[in-house]
Amino acid sequence: MAAAVEMSSGVAFEAACDVLVIGAGAAGLVTALRAAEAGADVLVLERDAVPRGSTALSAGLVPAAETRFQRAAGIADSKTAFAADIMAKSHGEADVAAVDRVVDVAGAALEWLADSHGLGFSVIDNFTYPGHSARRMHGLASRSGAELMDRLRAAAEAAGIAIVNNATATTLYRDGDGRIAGVGLVRPDGGGDLIACKALVLACNGYGGNKAIVEAEIPGMAGALYFGHPGNQGDAVLWGRALGAASRHLSGHQGHGSVAHPHGILITWATLTEGGFQVNLDGARFGNEALGYSESAATVIAQRDAVAWTVFDARIAAISRQFEDFRQAEAAGAILMADSLAALAERMRLPVAALEATAAAVAQFKRDGVVDGFGRNWAGIAPLAAPFAAVRVTGALFHTQGGLVVDGDARVLRPGDTPLPNLFAVGGAACGVSGAQASGYLSGNGLLTAVSLGYLAGAASAALALTEAI
Ligand SMILES: Cc1cc2nc3c(=O)[nH]c(=O)nc-3n(C[C@H](O)[C@H](O)[C@H](O)COP(=O)(O)OP(=O)(O)OC[C@H]3O[C@@H](n4cnc5c(N)ncnc54)[C@H](O)[C@@H]3O)c2cc1C
Repeated sequence: MAAAVEMSSGVAFEAACDVLVIGAGAAGLVTALRAAEAGADVLVLERDAVPRGSTALSAGLVPAAETRFQRAAGIADSKTAFAADIMAKSHGEADVAAVDRVVDVAGAALEWLADSHGLGFSVIDNFTYPGHSARRMHGLASRSGAELMDRLRAAAEAAGIAIVNNATATTLYRDGDGRIAGVGLVRPDGGGDLIACKALVLACNGYGGNKAIVEAEIPGMAGALYFGHPGNQGDAVLWGRALGAASRHLSGHQGHGSVAHPHGILITWATLTEGGFQVNLDGARFGNEALGYSESAATVIAQRDAVAWTVFDARIAAISRQFEDFRQAEAAGAILMADSLAALAERMRLPVAALEATAAAVAQFKRDGVVDGFGRNWAGIAPLAAPFAAVRVTGALFHTQGGLVVDGDARVLRPGDTPLPNLFAVGGAACGVSGAQASGYLSGNGLLTAVSLGYLAGAASAALALTEAI
């Protein structure tokens, strides 16, 4: 069903609310919780029978600086350092003001979710994600996005927020000034509803599931496995275009070079940062594994059969086991273990001598604490020891980072930076903070803008709606 924008004159709406949110992922539910807390009557539309979104597919890790969770773990960090890390990873392409605003509220948003809605965040304190100068990834106990979604949904239900499932928003109705009067939705049985709103929040993520937009904006990933939620069809960008909104960095995206293949299970990048390495089917390394998982998607896809093997050991497997995904991968038989590299190579069906030579070279780099020919710095990284482990992986497109340009309240802007009257965009629907390249994605940028922009938009949309006459 194509996303459309039509004039609102003569449309008879059947129901009304203050703040209407399209999409019940992390961004939509955080928005809804904040708007409801501010006194708004909130309705959330979700196309799926049960809200999950890309959020449920993720590890559910949200980066934030200067949090009490960090202080409890004895971690020193600053918002300034966090913002600098995002800017550096984005090659300076991200909008400085946008970065500052999401960094500024991320910690407050997590502490509010903990205090007001019982989400028990803790910080990952046993490894550092590439590009982050401090340990600042926050997650729930299982380190899974599914738990994050379950807890947000339960919080929304407890707050009395109506989530209408099996409701795909298709049409925005606008007046002559671009003010959204309401939304048309369709149900799987073909029926529909027209709902009026005072403010509309687009929380329907990006366009990773829309092949035509991916082909046009990210041609290098057009043939890649799409590992995000299929419902992310680019509706926000399509509606935004029809409304004359500005969009930016549409080639920006998060890839990932560590999806177990053919099992289709995310393997934590800790397998590499903690001392593992990747080889192709010839047993040879092909890049700097420490650069980041996003840009590694393209390098893995460029290898023969679009696959690579990640080689690590039992120590790293123990760290990785804190992730539900990793435990699932082990249960599915994706993780191979062996007492020697030769035995491991045989199980991987790789040339034994080649894998042993590659592992010996890596061991020497670690002993010498040097930077190798790919630019990876091995100083201070522990050696691998038997028993060894390996997992076959491929590269995938996880989600898109470009989107609608928003201001400090997450209001959607036109070119020239004037806001549309009552339209907001959050999470993957809004332009992120990664710039225009896959290599600009710093771990956690996705949920950072989902949680932070949701926190801002919830308050601002409620304030607007509660002062507006419908
Ligand atoms: C495998 C994987 C791992 C990841 N790991 C991390 C991580 O650890 N940390 C991190 O920061 N980011 C991670 N990300 C990215 C992160 O998941 C996203 O950035 C984040 O979930 C976006 O949240 P959202 O609420 O904007 O979108 P979603 O969670 O995708 O929610 C959007 C919702 O909108 C609904 N929807 C779409 N269109 C319509 C419509 N027209 N009408 C009604 N409903 C609609 C969808 O069904 C969906 O439920 C990962 C992504 C993937 C795929």
